[in-house]
Amino acid sequence: MSAEITKEKVEEALGRVMDPELGNDLVSLNMVKGVNINDGTVEATVELTTSGCPLKAKIEGDCKQEIGSIDGVTDVKIVFTAKPIPIRTEVSLPTVKKIIAISSGKGGVGKSTIATNIAKAFQKSGYSVGLLDADIYGPNIPTLLENYARPTITHDDKLVPITHDGLKFISMGLLLEPGQPVIWRGPMLHGVVKQFLADVIWGDLDYLFVDLPPGTGDVHLSLCQMVDLTGAIAITTPQQLSVADVRKGIGMFRQLQVEVLGIIENMSYYVHPGTNEKIYVFGKNGGKNLAEEWNLPLLAQIPIDPAICEKSENGLTYLMPVVEKLHQVFESKVSAS
Ligand code: ADP
Repeated sequence: MSAEITKEKVEEALGRVMDPELGNDLVSLNMVKGVNINDGTVEATVELTTSGCPLKAKIEGDCKQEIGSIDGVTDVKIVFTAKPIPIRTEVSLPTVKKIIAISSGKGGVGKSTIATNIAKAFQKSGYSVGLLDADIYGPNIPTLLENYARPTITHDDKLVPITHDGLKFISMGLLLEPGQPVIWRGPMLHGVVKQFLADVIWGDLDYLFVDLPPGTGDVHLSLCQMVDLTGAIAITTPQQLSVADVRKGIGMFRQLQVEVLGIIENMSYYVHPGTNEKIYVFGKNGGKNLAEEWNLPLLAQIPIDPAICEKSENGLTYLMPVVEKLHQVFESKVSAS
């Protein structure tokens, strides 16, 4: 006679199933929402972060294997549900059509350079564009645009963004004295992000790009929880150190139910000026492989180009194709819904 199948045994088995995205097991993540045992048949309900979770099949297979290994189990059914989409109403920007966050795992991978050039690429394609520098501790957009103009404040305490060649932007770097450090913590950062969204007169925009700080900190949480983002773009070099941190970032976005629109691999290679040979300084295809792993679009592979170091806007040539690629991503979402 086989041993009794209990809820505890099933939960113990599910405790061995990892969510590869979130890096923890289903029980610790509170994703197991029900267990039904009927003779040898076990039915478990698992709540995913999104209904379109690309790892659903893997999770299902792992659950079936672990539950199936319990003595006496003859059949396993996994029912998937999705977390309800949170209503983000703290800030609403009805005059801004799309808000896209630009993120990275590590600093120094070219996130701000790419954010600036994507914004310019969309602007050059005829869209009205804003750029919000939410890298509060290391605001680099004014340096990249070579524009340190002071924003004016209206009588009702609104900030007028700086318009640089038609691109509207705002940055902590415009409000601080040169060399003044930012020492704010969570709640104050939340306040700044909110002000930069809600108290800046952005006006009618087709796109607002948000340059996030590197990593997965307070600013990310604030932004993802207070406003409805269209999605996020993750920037990485091909180096495994950078890729590993971006992987965590993608997990965070998934958990916060923010769509990752694609990956841009920066500093992919250097073209030797004498031989035209591609030299893979930071390894080869780290970002491309990450995109494949998560079934995400690879939006660009940008070489190391000394011209970009000299003047950030020299990166524009590499970012122009991203405009078209992102439109394809948006169209595929519309046709899929
Ligand atoms: P992050 O925002 O990730 O910290 P930045 O955009 O400030 O990174 O870029 C870091 C440095 O790397 C800058 O000096 C920038 O000019 C340079 N850089 C970024 N991308 C490239 C590239 N593809 N080729 C050459 N230099 C680059």
